[in-house]
Amino acid sequence: MPELPEVELVRRELSRSVEGRKIEQIELSDYVYKGHATGRKTIVKQDVDEFKEMMMGASILKIGRRGKYLFFVLEKSDDIFHMVGHLGMSGAFFITGALEEIENLNYRKHWHALFGLDDGTLLSYCDIRRFGEMSVVKRLNDFAPFSRMAPEYTDPDSLSYFLTKARNEQNSKKSIKAVIMDSAVIPGVGNIYASEALFSAGVLPTKKAGNISAERLSRLHEEIVNVFEVSLASGGSTISDYRGVSGQSGSMQDRFKIYQKKRCTQCGHDVKTKVIATRNTFYCTKCQR
Ligand SMILES: [Zn+2]
Repeated sequence: MPELPEVELVRRELSRSVEGRKIEQIELSDYVYKGHATGRKTIVKQDVDEFKEMMMGASILKIGRRGKYLFFVLEKSDDIFHMVGHLGMSGAFFITGALEEIENLNYRKHWHALFGLDDGTLLSYCDIRRFGEMSVVKRLNDFAPFSRMAPEYTDPDSLSYFLTKARNEQNSKKSIKAVIMDSAVIPGVGNIYASEALFSAGVLPTKKAGNISAERLSRLHEEIVNVFEVSLASGGSTISDYRGVSGQSGSMQDRFKIYQKKRCTQCGHDVKTKVIATRNTFYCTKCQR
C-alpha cells in the first residue's frame, strides 16, 4: 500500500503533467458500472453519472495531497470544487498518449477511469485490487477523513500536535505502532514506515504510547520525518504493486533497515515479527525498547 512518500511522488508527477489541462472525455470501466449496479460503489464513491458530469469539462488547477489522499482542485464555469481520492492497495495513475501505451500489462488491463485531456494525453487510473477511491466534493472540509487529520509532517505544528495526541487518554494505552499509523496523530505513516521509524528511534512497536517519554516521542517524530524524506529522495518504495506515474520503480526498499529483514541490520540479532494494528510488524528486541 502506498504511504505518504509514494503518494507525494505521484502528486509531484501529476502536478507537472496535468495542471492547467482540461478534462474533455471520461470513461469508466465495466467493473465500476457493475460494482455500482450491485451497490458496491467500486472506485467511484458517489453516483457514477453525477461524478462524470462534474468532472467533464473541468480544468485541473492544482494537484494536492493530504496524508495518503490526493486531491484535484478543479474549476468549471467559475466554480471551484475538488476530486478527492486515494490509491488503495494498488492504484496508479498513468499519463500516456493512449491506453495501449501503458507498458505494464497488468495495470493496463485493470484501468477503471480514463480522463482524456485537452493536450491529447490520457490520464488513466488503474487499480488491480480495486480498493482505490475517488469522489467529488465542493470544499475539502466536506471530505470527512480530512476533518480529523493531524497537520502534515512538514507543518511547524506537527511535533507539538503529535506529542499531545500520542499521549492523550484515548491513545496512551494503545501500542505506539497503532498510534503513529493513526492519521489523527500524524498523517501518512503506513505499515512499512512505521516499522522503519520505530526501529531507527529504538522504540519497541508494542510499547504503550503513554509509557514513552516526550523526549523519545520527539525522537520518533524526527525519525518519521527522516524516513519520509529519505524515501522521497529514493523515489519511494517499490514492493508489491506501487508504480510511479510513468511506470517507474523506486529504490527505498533497498534502504530498509528492519522491514522484511531476517536479521537486524544493526546488531545481527533475529528480527521478530508480530501482527500489530492488523499488519505484520518487524522489530529487534535488542535495539528497540
Ligand atoms: Zn538489533
